[in-house]
Amino acid sequence: MSIDRKKLEALLRWYFNTVGEDLLAAIIVDREGLVLASQSREDKIDEEIVGGLSSLIEPVLKRITQEFSSGNFGTGTFDTEEYRLIFCEAGEDAVFISILDGIAMIDPIFPYAYLAAEKIARIFDGREVSPVIPNLYKKVGSEIITKKEGKLQQIGVKSEEYAYKLILGGEGGVGKTSMVMRFVHDNFQESYKATIGTNIMKKECEFKDLNTKVRFVIWDLAGQAQFARVRQTYLRNSETGLLVFDVARRDTFDKIKKWHEEILKDSKKTSLILVGNKSDLIDQRDVTKEEAKALAKELGLSYFETSAKDGTGVNDAFEMLAFQMIDKFLTVKEI
Ligand code: GDP
Ligand code: MG
Repeated sequence: MSIDRKKLEALLRWYFNTVGEDLLAAIIVDREGLVLASQSREDKIDEEIVGGLSSLIEPVLKRITQEFSSGNFGTGTFDTEEYRLIFCEAGEDAVFISILDGIAMIDPIFPYAYLAAEKIARIFDGREVSPVIPNLYKKVGSEIITKKEGKLQQIGVKSEEYAYKLILGGEGGVGKTSMVMRFVHDNFQESYKATIGTNIMKKECEFKDLNTKVRFVIWDLAGQAQFARVRQTYLRNSETGLLVFDVARRDTFDKIKKWHEEILKDSKKTSLILVGNKSDLIDQRDVTKEEAKALAKELGLSYFETSAKDGTGVNDAFEMLAFQMIDKFLTVKEI
């Protein structure tokens, strides 16, 4: 098996940047527990300790390998006095282990760990993958995975059978319809005829390792977004959505707060992310990434840059929405 090590290392670096200082080390091992790649935070943990940790990981890994073969295990946590560990299956051959500070909270980190594991699996398979782990500003409220020293806990999801209403907020012409077309049909057209009414599409995000699917019912409101009454029906009962602006048009960025308010007025629990689309228009750029991130932080959202035209970031953005839904339905049981 030939593995793209550069990509693997790039991915681990991104993982470190994104998760932040609670992450002490990240290790990829094969099913026998052999270390295939590792990265550690230099000032906290050195290579020697990573080596030493394998004695810590080994017995847990043995159990996990057994659980794997019984088809039980996908993702789990294990706590010791000093560390908290997250284990994620990374495809057929590997396990991705995150070693966190003993007082770290697992919930906010879990979606990242899971996303990284899925990307690792793709690298092992030689499939197309971007090594970027998008940044997600966590909202609070999901149940907290309790610390139980010396106990292996299995993380599951109970959202499989449900479809979420996904809406698109943002001014006309920012590329909302184009993003959906890219996500659902993986294509792009220079113009979509402004249909009358609302286009409704279904799309599934499958997460094999978690044995779950997140289904979206995407409501794309055509031309008449200017009528407040239409908008209200459209936004009502939404559960998740994208707030989209055009990075080459500042006026669309300035309207984001208004959209955010309007969406939350009707459905307080709608789980959103902020998206700067048309990132391919580099020369016409009118809003900087820093400004956009600052706004996202202020609104408590994660921020993504996408180009519906060349496809960059579109799947990552929708995937993160799916993760936010998964995160709401996390369950934990001891095994
Ligand atoms: P909506 O009104 O927000 O649904 O926007 P549309 O999806 O209809 O797109 C408006 C225009 O922007 C169309 O001409 C698209 O071809 C164009 N567009 C959409 N996304 C992108 C992108 O990522 N890059 C570029 N360069 N153009 C885009
Ligand atoms: Mg549209």
